[in-house]
Amino acid sequence: MNVIDWQKEVERRQDALIEDAKKLLQIKSVLDEENATEEAPLGEGVKEALDFMLQLGEKDGFTPKNVGNLAGHLEFGQGEDIVGILCHVDVVPEGDGWSSDPYGAEIRDGKIFGRGAIDDKGPTMAAYYAMKIVKELGLPLNKRVRMIIGTDEESDWRCVDHYFEHEEMPAMGFAPDADFPIIYAEKGIADFDLVQNWKEQKSDAEVKAKVLSFQSGRRYNMVPDFAKASLEVTNEPTDTVQLYADFLKKNELPGKYYIENGLLMLEAEGVSAHGMEPNNGKNAGLYMAKFLSELKIDPKASHYFQFAATYFYEDSRGKKLGISYSDDITGDLTINVGKLSYTEESGGRLGLNVRYPVTNKMDDTKDSLEGLLKEEHFIIENFTDSKPHHVAEDDFLIQTLKKVYEEQTGEKAELLSIGGGTYARSLKSGVAFGPLFPGREDIAHQKDEYMHIEDMLRATAIYAQAIYELAK
Ligand SMILES: [Zn+2]
Repeated sequence: MNVIDWQKEVERRQDALIEDAKKLLQIKSVLDEENATEEAPLGEGVKEALDFMLQLGEKDGFTPKNVGNLAGHLEFGQGEDIVGILCHVDVVPEGDGWSSDPYGAEIRDGKIFGRGAIDDKGPTMAAYYAMKIVKELGLPLNKRVRMIIGTDEESDWRCVDHYFEHEEMPAMGFAPDADFPIIYAEKGIADFDLVQNWKEQKSDAEVKAKVLSFQSGRRYNMVPDFAKASLEVTNEPTDTVQLYADFLKKNELPGKYYIENGLLMLEAEGVSAHGMEPNNGKNAGLYMAKFLSELKIDPKASHYFQFAATYFYEDSRGKKLGISYSDDITGDLTINVGKLSYTEESGGRLGLNVRYPVTNKMDDTKDSLEGLLKEEHFIIENFTDSKPHHVAEDDFLIQTLKKVYEEQTGEKAELLSIGGGTYARSLKSGVAFGPLFPGREDIAHQKDEYMHIEDMLRATAIYAQAIYELAK
């Protein structure tokens, strides 16, 4: 058989590919649970995008299946095993500040603009045309090829949860929903709260202030960029205010202090960052906890703030907690304290986002943590854990995708590991494979989201060859 020129095959279908990508981008497929129906459990827009893909596939001769109106698939080929391509057609809300209609799919300077252009409708259409090319070339395959289309990736993954409860798990697959070359390892992600479990103790320590409330951060996976506390100060607040002013200055933190309804209010501003690398931010909550831990405050608050400052201030690696861990595949265990709160009535809480390496066992980590927490009078609540995800480097899937990527780009296919979670982790043996090429700006979830048309075509050719090589 002649060598297939994958890029030529893409060029032949280029106009149709762009037209279909535009149509998909013009559907406002944002989660809309308020207007949910049985037919459209996540809202009309999301359902319309799913239907669009299923109808397109049916017209082109793929076998479509709607799975509970939450997900669906398009399949062709025959064989025992399935090669899965996992995509999603829901998008995050468009937000403000766009230069053109976020659902206009306008093309300017070789880029197609629209919410979902790179995440994940552009790549979905690229993968769809890749599958279509392999089918139209009539190449002999030994596996079935199945595009699985999710509609809740941006929120709770109810699509893939439901899908894999009812449908077969592919033997291998990839998700065109992150970066090229290949993301083969992702840390485990555990979210939980540490809740103060403290019994009143008599103390003779001098108390200069009582903390009434403290709040910082709203999401486990973000570094809080703001913290606020209200204090009842027993005598003159001047000392405390001076100490706070010095603290802000020393740590180069913007902040404020003022009296409101007779209470001393303290505010601090930090720097927000994604929770996968807390050191990229400045945790406003932990700074304020550090400050309050050094004041002569009431015993309950003192217990909480000392705990927070002792174990988390300037330590995002779990060293002080005794749970640090690192491996060569995914690097360090990281801890982001994304939510902090304290009230006089209900006590204190810390909401943690722990990302742990692929060779680390969360059960062991949790056990050792619980030992320490017992002594410190804290308990764990709301524990959730998404296990690490890893495909071995010598696996057929990785070797094949590597070969395809290198042949088509002429670049070495470096294997990447990340602290975040990609859609690939819902597959048993799956990796994230594109669509963002190295060096390209990541504009997913931002205003003026776009995909380079050139990249869309390059990705289509890579996906086509990958599908063929995996399924042949
Ligand atoms: Zn995505």
